Amino acid sequence: RAKEKGRNDFQIFNADMKSVSINRLKLENELRRAIALEEFVLFYQPQVDIETGRIVGVEALIRWNHPEKGLISPNYFISFAEESGLIVPIGEWVLRAACKQNKAWQNQGFSPMPISVNLSMRQFFQHNLKGKISHVLEQTGLDPQYLELEITESMTMDVDHAIQSLLELKELGVHVSIDDFGTGYSSLYYLKKFPIDKLKIDRSFVRDIMVDPNDAAIVTTIIAMTRHLNLKVIAEGVETEEQLHFLHQNRCNEVQGYWFSPPVNAVQLENMLSHGVHAAASG
Ligand code: C2E
Ligand code: MG
Ligand code: MG
Ligand code: MG
Repeated sequence: RAKEKGRNDFQIFNADMKSVSINRLKLENELRRAIALEEFVLFYQPQVDIETGRIVGVEALIRWNHPEKGLISPNYFISFAEESGLIVPIGEWVLRAACKQNKAWQNQGFSPMPISVNLSMRQFFQHNLKGKISHVLEQTGLDPQYLELEITESMTMDVDHAIQSLLELKELGVHVSIDDFGTGYSSLYYLKKFPIDKLKIDRSFVRDIMVDPNDAAIVTTIIAMTRHLNLKVIAEGVETEEQLHFLHQNRCNEVQGYWFSPPVNAVQLENMLSHGVHAAASG
């Protein structure tokens, strides 16, 4: 479960607090303030076509611009936000900000590309998700085909509910990908039934492809499977040229990772869109 992953993630607020409950209360209050004052900022990580080396998409990743603590990673507050329900307004902010930014890039003349937004479990199963997303698309003027929503395998465990939600999203014309693929529960039997577009191979498999034959086998098998299921595939966490080469050899479509760029702010991303991801990376 996603919850377990970030169980100890809000320790950053522990130092001056006496009990976990006070700590949580403080974090909750701080997060409420952050929502009200819009203390969040989006960073963007390029997704690169492995054949052409061109940026074909970006993932929007939230950071909390805390007035005293500076930029805080989502690992420190997303799981708490999910537990407390605050993820719903935060997620709405992310969705709106991402659509707005992508539309702005199109207005600036950059080639249209999809922007990926991470959906939380609560968001995915919230009432009238379709209506809410549709409203944001209308408000921002972004064509639905340029919005991609990332869900995780854990959200597909309730198969019927997930299929129903996914079908509604597909009706809108947005794309859907499965994030961190391979790390969660996943029934291959149902995978073919889910109306999804893309699998994102989790970076824990990519990390050791050059040294661990099991990880190499898992990655090549996922890639082959996506080809048979007619899905796109992207490898996360590509950090070295060797990993990139391996993925290319094994016909992975797209890559995302520090080898090309960490998540960057909007201006830096524009620089990469103008001059190419390599030019920007090598200064
Ligand atoms: P994710 O969606 O799997 O995003 C990829 C994470 O991997 C990002 O961490 C990114 O910075 C990191 N990453 C990318 N390339 C590399 C690499 O080559 N090496 C390594 N070691 N790491 C790499 P980030 O931005 O800290 O986000 C962490 C997680 O927080 C995300 O994982 C996602 O699950 C969650 N998250 C981020 N933004 C949002 C959001 O707006 N809403 C929700 N619900 N969750 C979010
Ligand atoms: Mg993601
Ligand atoms: Mg991921
Ligand atoms: Mg992740």
